[in-house]
Amino acid sequence: MMNVNQLREQFPVLESKVYGKDLVYLDNAATSQRPLSVVKAIEDSSLKANANLHRAVHHLAVEATDAYESARIRVQKFLNAAHPEEIVFTSGTTQSINLVAFSFGEAFVKEGDEIIVTAAEHHSNIVPWQMLCERKKATLKVLDIDENGRLQAEHLQKLISHSTRIVAICQISNVLGVINPIKEIIEISHENGVPVLVDGAQGAVHGKVDVQELDCDFYAFSAHKLFGPSGVGVLYGKRLLLEAMPPYMGGGEMIDHVNFAGTTYAPVPRKFEAGTQNINSVPAIVPALDLADECFESPQEQDKIKEYVYNSLDNDPRITLYGRPDSLEDKIPLFSFKVDGAHHEDLALIMDKMGIALRSGQMCAEPLMDRLGVTGLLRASFAPYNTMEEAKYFIESLDRAIDMLV
Ligand code: PMP
Repeated sequence: MMNVNQLREQFPVLESKVYGKDLVYLDNAATSQRPLSVVKAIEDSSLKANANLHRAVHHLAVEATDAYESARIRVQKFLNAAHPEEIVFTSGTTQSINLVAFSFGEAFVKEGDEIIVTAAEHHSNIVPWQMLCERKKATLKVLDIDENGRLQAEHLQKLISHSTRIVAICQISNVLGVINPIKEIIEISHENGVPVLVDGAQGAVHGKVDVQELDCDFYAFSAHKLFGPSGVGVLYGKRLLLEAMPPYMGGGEMIDHVNFAGTTYAPVPRKFEAGTQNINSVPAIVPALDLADECFESPQEQDKIKEYVYNSLDNDPRITLYGRPDSLEDKIPLFSFKVDGAHHEDLALIMDKMGIALRSGQMCAEPLMDRLGVTGLLRASFAPYNTMEEAKYFIESLDRAIDMLV
């Protein structure tokens, strides 16, 4: 297994200077950096195998199609899905969730039905369901969290009803960094005959996911948060469910036959992949997942950083840290916090001048901000290429920045 320095060598951007300071990139939960292997895969596909997919019989088209379908098999392996047909390529988690909300919603949701999400969702796992509820006159119900960002699976028992059609929940909130008890959520939902969509945008990044073991019905994630290219996302869906769902968009190669009397559709997953797909970037998910798998194998350094940053922030009386589970095992190295008397944006700007990239604001989770009673937070999110030295520099710089403002 490579050490952190060997890992960093694969990410040239980490050598950058920002305002004369070494870049310390701690906005990984928004988008992680991209290794040379991924850039090379995009380049190779662009320069050597750039042709449209599933259409022509010529050599380049076959190469491009093979690379695309091999990527599907790699994703199947990554998630331990039962069949490659259960993997649909999308543009990202947002499109994956919209696909389900539209298509599953079209087939299975009617007036008076209910959909359950949690109080800690990203807008991408709220708004598509709200739009569905508006279309169908259904109701969106919210499973609450406690002050520390913990979710009690038993509370779902009280919320779920005969009218519930789907539960949509994040594996890990992009604000709280707390690992939700999704296995129990799935069990309770299934006991009530309700399928579950897991928003894995943050979950897929921080450890091995096994969709068969979880028994989730849908799982969504984005490649750009996992060392991969932007504009590539994944929707896993159980085959029977995907087959029962109507297409989300029409056109291109998602058809079986088209005539003016009516159209029949291609089998899954192509039924859901209308139009020219992301030919050059999808194959680049392969080296990204290879690297992610390698990083999952030795999380020790990450665990030390997590413990150090957590304790430093939590023990500082000027700082309120959000997302505080009972055990640090249920937390990823993602820390959202506020500082009394200092605006998060001002702190983020000062930290930027020190070379540190943080996220500030509502983080696409306005309902969660309301629930926590804040207008915005500051977030530091770490990736396997971040070092303990960087973590220490972050804590020292934050201390200086707070002193300047408070
Ligand atoms: N859900 C969660 C939990 C996320 O963190 C994000 C990205 N911030 C999304 C959904 C949306 O992902 P994307 O923008 O890649 O579609």
